[in-house]
Order: sequence, then C-alpha cells, then structure tokens
Amino acid sequence: MLRSKMESGEAVYTFFEVVIVGGGIAGLSAADMLYKNGITNFTILEARSRLGGRMYSEEIEEGKFIDYGAQYIHGGVPANSIYNLAVSNGLLGDELITESIENLKYFYTTEGKIIDGYHLKKAYELFEPIEEEISYFFYTNTETIPTEYNNIEVAFEEGVTNAIAHLKASNESENYFIEDVELALRTMRFAMEVPNGDKNSQVGLTTIGAYVTLPDERDIILPQGTQSIINTFGDQITSRVQMKTAVNKIEWNDNEVTTTTCDGEIIKSKHIIVTLPLGVLKKDSVQFVPPLDDRKKSAIENLGQGRVAKIILVFDQPFWFPGEGYMVFAWTDQELAAGIETGDWTTAIPLMTEVHGIRNALTTFIVGDFAHVVEKLTDEEIIEGASKVLRKFTQDLLIPTPIAVKRHNWLSDPYTMGTWMSPTPKTNYTDVLALQMPMPSVENPRVLLAGEHTHAKYSSTMHGARSTGIDQANKIIQFMKSNN
Ligand SMILES: Cc1cc2nc3c(=O)[nH]c(=O)nc-3n(C[C@H](O)[C@H](O)[C@H](O)COP(=O)(O)OP(=O)(O)OC[C@H]3O[C@@H](n4cnc5c(N)ncnc54)[C@H](O)[C@@H]3O)c2cc1C
Repeated sequence: MLRSKMESGEAVYTFFEVVIVGGGIAGLSAADMLYKNGITNFTILEARSRLGGRMYSEEIEEGKFIDYGAQYIHGGVPANSIYNLAVSNGLLGDELITESIENLKYFYTTEGKIIDGYHLKKAYELFEPIEEEISYFFYTNTETIPTEYNNIEVAFEEGVTNAIAHLKASNESENYFIEDVELALRTMRFAMEVPNGDKNSQVGLTTIGAYVTLPDERDIILPQGTQSIINTFGDQITSRVQMKTAVNKIEWNDNEVTTTTCDGEIIKSKHIIVTLPLGVLKKDSVQFVPPLDDRKKSAIENLGQGRVAKIILVFDQPFWFPGEGYMVFAWTDQELAAGIETGDWTTAIPLMTEVHGIRNALTTFIVGDFAHVVEKLTDEEIIEGASKVLRKFTQDLLIPTPIAVKRHNWLSDPYTMGTWMSPTPKTNYTDVLALQMPMPSVENPRVLLAGEHTHAKYSSTMHGARSTGIDQANKIIQFMKSNN
C-alpha cells in the first residue's frame, strides 16, 4: 500500500519514504528519478491546482499556445535535459523552431528612425566581446574580481565606452555614423536586463547566473508550450501529487521529517526534497524547525530574486509583417532618467517580440522596480502605456490598440514571489553550493533543497531546475542503497 495511516493520540499522520514540496520541473524530475530507482513511496505536495510552477502555458485558440512563464529551451544540445525530454517525446515538431538575439533587427530611435542593418551588424559585433568578457567573470574566483566591477552596469559601461573609443580611433571610423553604433550598443545593454532578471545595476558580476550558456546559444521553442514538457510525466508521478496542498512547516531531526500543510495535515517521512522558489524562501512563509543552517540563510539573502513582468499583447490583426515584429526601443539616457523621476513605467519597456505561432501577439518585458508597478496596473492601463510606446517609436499613430493582455503576476504570486534567480553583487558561487548541501549532513540527507536557484551554472532555467531535482533525489537513492 502506498500510504499507511497510523493514529497516535489525537493526531493522524501519513507516512512516506520521501516528501517532495513543489510540483514544478525540479519536484517532478526528482519524483521521476526516485520512481525509476524503485522508490515509489513518495508524495508531491503542490500548493496550486496545477502542475508546472513557472512552466505555465495556455492554449488560447486551438493549437495556439502562449507561455506565461518559461518559453525557450536555452540550447539544443544533449547536455540540456529539457531538450532531451522534448526530443524523446516528439515535442519539437518536424523542424526545430529557434530564435536568437539576431532576430532583434528593428532598433527604433526616439525620432522614429530605424538603425540600419549595416550599423546594427557592427554594434552586434562589438557587443559580443563585451558580453563574453562579462561572462568570463562568472567562471572566475570571486576574490580576483576588482570591487569596481561589482555589477553588470559598470562593466557594460566600460565595455561600451572602450569599444566606441576603439572604433573612433580605427581606420574604420569613417565608414560609420558612430552615434548610431553607440546608440544600438547602449540599447542592447538595456535589452540584456530581461535575461539578467533585474536592472543591470542590481545584477552582480561576481558569480554564477544566466550568463552561463550551453555550447548552443539558440533558443528553442516548444510549439505546444512548456506545459507540454510537464505533461510528459506519467500517471506514476501525477497520481502521487496532492494538489492545493501548501506546506507551511517542516520539522526535522537526524531520523525523520514532519511536514505540516496549511490545512493542518501532518505527514511524516524519512526524507524531504524542498523545491520552494527562492522568493518563497526569502519571505520565510514556510517555517523550518530547526531553522535552515546559517550558511543557507545567508545564501538565500545573498542571491537575488529576479523581477521581470512578462506581458503578451494581443491585437485584433497584426500590424507587422512576419519577422518584423522584433522591435527594440532606443530610449535616450534623458528619457530613462525622466521616466524614473516621474514614475513613468512605460520607459521600462525595452523591446517587443513576436510570439511563435500566434500572428497577432507581441511579448514585452518590464524589469526591476517598474515590474512591481506593472503588476498592480489594470489591463487597460497596460494597453494604453504599451500603445503609447509603440506609436512614439514607430511614429505611426495608426498602430492599433491591443485588444487584450495576457500575463501572470509572478512577483506577487505567493507561490513564486519573483521570476528567476538573478545574482546580486553580494552573490558568491559558494552560496549555491551551500544550498545544495543536505541537512543535517551529506552522509545523512534528510532535508534537501532543489529548484533553479540551487544550480551552480544553469540557475534561472528549466534545465537547471530539472538537474537539481535529479541530483537531490540521487543523494537519497545513494543513501538508501548504502543503508539497506
Ligand atoms: C516569466 C518567466 C520566463 C521564463 N523564461 C524562461 C525561459 O525562456 N527558459 C528557461 O529555461 N527558463 C525560463 N524561466 C525560468 C524557469 O521557468 C524556472 O527556472 C523553472 O521553471 C523553475 O522550476 P522549479 O521547479 O525550480 O520552480 P517552480 O516551477 O516555481 O516550482 C515550484 C513549485 O513549488 C510550489 N510551491 C510554492 N510554495 C509552496 C508551498 N508552500 N507548498 C507547496 N508547494 C509550493 C509552486 O506552486 C510551484 O509549483 C522563466 C521564468 C519566468 C517566471
């Protein structure tokens, strides 16, 4: 029997070998690993009434899917376990659908001009080494990084200034309008805040993070949304999920774990894998007794929780031709500063991109403090602001008003409280290693944390999250093997 109940005085306990908190990709992957290794006496406690966590798609019309959360498989190589799942389940279609940064071809200036392809190509050429140099820091020991390089903004600024100075001094300089190249470069810097998960000034250089990519920089699209990955977990896993079951307390000792849910259900287990998102851990809404060790607590404080509002604008009819809906807005520094001063959130719209398979929708992202502002706005206010930006940059007053907004407010959702882990200047590689460490010890793994924020290289991704679930499940499997 999967579950056995035992009465002990007044309380009714349920027993499992392993409890998994969270039915996102980390939790489901952990469950799958256990199951494949013959451990079937486990349960997954999921607060929401759906599985997938930040992998959340909706079929808005027959065969047309939007993703409120994760969208791209970053890197189609065997080292990406999400790519492998997608391929082995035939989810990628006959032809791989990919996107890359070069899709962003239409850089609009504030006067409605488009920076031409010749200058844009040069800007991308100059941008690549700057980005690479920044990535380099992620692999180095934090001690060796000079303190003035403690955030991406500083590094970008220096990179862009140097690149432009070199261009001006080179014999190529006469071939370009340098201002156009510089404007494109500065705008790329702003657009990079989306994958970084926060304003560049908040994102640390000294660590792990979204910059570490697999040796394939293509972004691959799942034609039926990322939920199609979640749907590959069969009945042997999904039948062991308890939906609408939020955990609020985890008590543990050297031998067992007692988990209490918000409904007062008490579950005992030998081990627990906790995939609570970083934002939830930061809020302390789930109590650990005894508390998480000091190193984990400081790690949770040091890691940043990304702040991005992802918004899909639906139009009655597309006003762009296919491929021309990848627009980047080159706000001037003055406009950006004025936006911050007056609280104009629309100046935080860096770009809009097409939505694969849906001709009449565009996606946009708002990063940082303004992401919180946007979550509180009504759909009508978002539509008005986004239309204003589109018309301003294209100087086309006939651009139609979107008819709908599709979004999920991740920052205020109590079961996420953010988007993805974004390293701060305080973050250190060892923070993540500390989170991976089982409690009370490696030799006796009772409480194990998993989830995207616990991956040393691929945090902020689906494949990173999946790996952490599998790795932590493995530690339990090894423990069981050596203790049986
Ligand atoms: C807008 C957005 C865009 C993204 N884009 C991409 C992308 O293009 N590519 C990519 O690779 N990644 C992307 N990501 C990141 C990716 O979605 C995550 O890294 C990954 O899905 C995290 O999986 P997880 O299992 O660690 O966490 P989650 O998916 O958040 O799972 C945690 C689960 O725990 C549950 N939970 C929370 N609190 C409780 C509680 N108290 N009790 C019980 N259950 C609880 C939650 O409901 C949730 O189901 C994006 C994320 C967002 C938000």
